[in-house]
Amino acid sequence: MTISLGDIDPSSTPGAPGDRAATEAATEELRGRLVDLQERLWAEHSQSLLLVLQAMDAGGKDGTIRKVFTGVNPQGCRVYSFKEPSRHELDHDFLWRIHPCTPGKGEVVIFNRSHYEDVLVTRVLDLVPESTWRPRYRIIRDFEHGLAAAGTRIVKVMLHISKQEQAKRFAVRRDDPTKHWKYSPHDLDMAQQWDDFMRAYEEAVNETSTDDAPWHVVPADQKWYRNWAVLRLVTDALTDMDPRYPESKDLGTKAT
Ligand code: ATP
Ligand code: MG
Repeated sequence: MTISLGDIDPSSTPGAPGDRAATEAATEELRGRLVDLQERLWAEHSQSLLLVLQAMDAGGKDGTIRKVFTGVNPQGCRVYSFKEPSRHELDHDFLWRIHPCTPGKGEVVIFNRSHYEDVLVTRVLDLVPESTWRPRYRIIRDFEHGLAAAGTRIVKVMLHISKQEQAKRFAVRRDDPTKHWKYSPHDLDMAQQWDDFMRAYEEAVNETSTDDAPWHVVPADQKWYRNWAVLRLVTDALTDMDPRYPESKDLGTKAT
């Protein structure tokens, strides 16, 4: 099925359990389930979960991570934020810096931006030619297939905000002293290329949505909905993985 971003209203709330209050109550419940499932995953030490979060600037990646993973045992959970590659990183293939960050057995790893930047921002800003970025779709599919074959469940989420909501959030970042540290005039330049980014996102999502690693486009203008939707995707994946506490170890017979 081809995803068309233009058909997904960023302010919509598909599948929400009710209005804001009801959805927030459901989010609390899901959080309890997540805590339990993550503990089982860690104890089982067999499978792992990778959550890939992509969004335009001010799309809500940080807030989602904070709200979804509150209460999760930090042992067994890691977050990686991928920024502009260093010169050293650029000397290698684009997955070189990504692979060591993928989860080991029992772990939950969250990518705040990811290898997808290498078919998004690099494409829109013309950092590499098409002959370099286009083959990356296939390279990414193969890479994720390899991770899945090794026991990693991959959940990829694009937080889909509207241009208007982004402008509102930029204004808050500019004017609120507690948020100003997130404000970057550079983001305003990037926002000029909104349509190019949407085209790049749409193609990337369609080219790399596989059975192993499907994309989910989550309408994200309303934070209460976004939190519930991402939490639901994560708990559904973990529920399906059905992690179990290991059988109690045979501690042997007591020496007499
Ligand atoms: P926020 O949404 O809160 O602004 P952020 O994820 O944008 O957080 P920043 O430090 O503002 O964090 O920006 C990181 C920048 O690094 C982004 O502009 C992103 O596009 C860029 N980046 C990440 N990976 C790559 C890459 N492989 N090549 C080029 N640029 C990249
Ligand atoms: Mg930014």
